[in-house]
Amino acid sequence: MTLKDIKVGESAQVTVVGGEGALRQHFLDMGVIPGAKIKVVKYAPMGDPIELRLHGYELTLRLADAEKIEVTRVRDDIEEEVRTAVEGDTYSHPGLGEGGKFHDKKHENPLPQDTLLTYALVGNQNSGKTTLFNQLTGSNQHVGNFPGVTVDRKDGVIREHPETLVTDLPGIYSMSPYSSEEIVSRNFVLEDKPKAIINIVDATNIERNMYLTMQLLEMDKPMVVALNMMDEVIGNGGTIMVNKMEQLLGVPVVPISAAKNKGVDELVSHAIHVAKYQEKPLINDFCDENAYGGAVHRCIHGVEHLIADHVRRAGLPLRFAATKVVEGDELVIEKLLLDDNEKEMLEHIIIQMEKERGMDRSAAIAEMRFDFIGKVCRQTVVKPHESKEHERSRRIDRILTGKYTAIPAFILIMAIVCLLTFNIIGAWLQELLEGGIGLLKENTDALLVSTGVNQVVRSLVIDGVFEGVGSVLSFLPIIVILFFFLSIMEDSGYIARVAFFMDKILRRIGLSGRSIVPMLIGFGCTVPAVMSTRTLPSERDRKMTILLTPFMSCTAKLPIYAFFVNAFFPGRGGLIIVMLYVLGMITAILVALVFKHSCFRGEAVPFVMELPNYRLPGAKNVGRLLWEKAKDFLQRAFSVIFIASIVIWFLSNFNIHFDLVENSGESILAMLAGIIAPVFRPLGLGDWRIVTSLICGFMAKESVVSILEVLFGSEGGVATALTTVAAGTLLVFSLLYTPCVAAIASIKRELGSKWALFVVIWQCAIAWVMAFVCKFFMEIFIK
Ligand code: GDP
Ligand code: MG
Repeated sequence: MTLKDIKVGESAQVTVVGGEGALRQHFLDMGVIPGAKIKVVKYAPMGDPIELRLHGYELTLRLADAEKIEVTRVRDDIEEEVRTAVEGDTYSHPGLGEGGKFHDKKHENPLPQDTLLTYALVGNQNSGKTTLFNQLTGSNQHVGNFPGVTVDRKDGVIREHPETLVTDLPGIYSMSPYSSEEIVSRNFVLEDKPKAIINIVDATNIERNMYLTMQLLEMDKPMVVALNMMDEVIGNGGTIMVNKMEQLLGVPVVPISAAKNKGVDELVSHAIHVAKYQEKPLINDFCDENAYGGAVHRCIHGVEHLIADHVRRAGLPLRFAATKVVEGDELVIEKLLLDDNEKEMLEHIIIQMEKERGMDRSAAIAEMRFDFIGKVCRQTVVKPHESKEHERSRRIDRILTGKYTAIPAFILIMAIVCLLTFNIIGAWLQELLEGGIGLLKENTDALLVSTGVNQVVRSLVIDGVFEGVGSVLSFLPIIVILFFFLSIMEDSGYIARVAFFMDKILRRIGLSGRSIVPMLIGFGCTVPAVMSTRTLPSERDRKMTILLTPFMSCTAKLPIYAFFVNAFFPGRGGLIIVMLYVLGMITAILVALVFKHSCFRGEAVPFVMELPNYRLPGAKNVGRLLWEKAKDFLQRAFSVIFIASIVIWFLSNFNIHFDLVENSGESILAMLAGIIAPVFRPLGLGDWRIVTSLICGFMAKESVVSILEVLFGSEGGVATALTTVAAGTLLVFSLLYTPCVAAIASIKRELGSKWALFVVIWQCAIAWVMAFVCKFFMEIFIK
């Protein structure tokens, strides 16, 4: 029997975990190990994936993956195990200045006075890392990318401790190289050699979170454990016996609430102490000599002895290297430079262990870790029966992921977000900003005129810089507001649910559920859409999603539609515009199918995802994020777009002899347009003025209309110069051709210049073909 055969509400116990490679390791790391009890919570509205509950948290799996997990049905429902406090023992708190175990004064070996204390902030996703990072660093942060990959890297100095530097690593579940983020985090700890690790643990979900803690302890680095969300644990009547836990783990454990800023000061003093005195964990040996005949214990220790010299040479932590060798981690094995004899010997040891233990190596190691965690938690964690937060999440989910309500609720939420962003708040702020920029422009113009500045310079400032940068700048409010809603949806845990119920549809076109978000934002603006793909777990999905988002018709194209629909299709405007949106989506689906069968072969990443409890995002987190996005956008507006505006201005105001032209028909731009025009002749759009407007549309889509008006003299001029079919063709072409420079610039930032160039050429080609096909049909139907 597999997990797939278990009905909703029933529980099962895992017997064998199938599958292979990284995916299987990921199952194990998420706690799907032999012996684990799993309850099937619900199916997604379309019947796939399923939601499970295990180790006190919710996990989603696709049916195809659930089929790989063999189980036996168990009768007793695995409602949360209720634990009461163990009375008796008292433990000395090994705090600062108390001469405690972890701050041993005798063997102390402090780093030189002026050493920079570097920290890695490591924890599961949704454990409150960002919240803690913001509490620790306040505004002393800078954001960049890790070298070579587009994974966000945030560094910051701890408040009032200028000698520190904390790096916020991506949220990860394990140190196995499963996603690019896990590789980044692991390499950071191994190679950048931070002076200490701050491990943040979600105390409401402590078993799953401690799995990473086990692996971090193996790294043999000075470390503190921050037990976050203690407010929720205590609020529900639970406790964690911190002193006992410190004793069992051999590192300082500090209960905190990042959101309420409680315990953070204590965390900082411990963190500084362990780093300064380089106090390593007292324990990193979790294998129990007596468990299951000690097979795993003997295997790991045997391997440790055999590889000790190689490990020293490779500069790796011994225990970490040994468990990774047992797990069969290629990256580590390669680093150790073992020779064939040694590899063979190790293999024999491991096979023997598998035989004695009755399960394969990865499962055995994962099980050993969860076994230890179980022991620690039984002695230290007092669990309440059911947390208020989980109960609340279940109630909310009855609607938001309910069989019949999930999709309507989603559409409603998105509609409200779009309405507020693009219509009510956003439009109002945009108008305000546009007004401000317009006023500034007029005043500057007046100033330039009154001071008698050269005509060319004045044109450069007014027509070049203000037109270009100004028009893009006015999008700032929309982008900030859109990100406001998105970050609320993301931090509250809703986006994970959307991915959960949209996964089945998106998989048909080779994507996974998480790609839905950038696509939706794409209807607003491609720039934030491309930026939001960073949350996607796999490189392949991310690339594919970025390449598809520009097909979602952005708001900047609306003025073009409005203009042509008024002039050529009076009375049928709404219908035509809806058809354009649908055409964009159909094209995206076709393109996705082409990608799926060509350059992006293979499945979308497996969908093994945690569904965290709904939580109210902190205002500080959201505020900081908005500030970052705004800054990012402004930087771009004043770099790429600034330069591009000047280039276009130059091309449209000078002729080939670099003389200023009176009539833009003689400009370099017009000339270039003339060269390109034959390409557009088969579409019936060979007029150089149309071509010019399309070229300018590359700057900003809204400018297509304004350029046409200027070049044709008036709206009526355009109407007489084009046939209805040509207007329709032009609409299709404008819908699909290359995204504007701002979007291309963000694509370049995410994927590099080659892909950015590819997008420009590829989309123009698609637009041409689609326009040609549509023209053919329109000639038949519109006569
Ligand atoms: P990350 O994914 O690890 O970066 O986690 P975030 O910092 O984004 O936090 C996830 C959610 O947990 C947010 O909605 C936070 O507001 C919330 N959160 C973080 N720390 C605490 C805490 O100490 N107590 C409570 N109740 N909520 C918290
Ligand atoms: Mg975060």
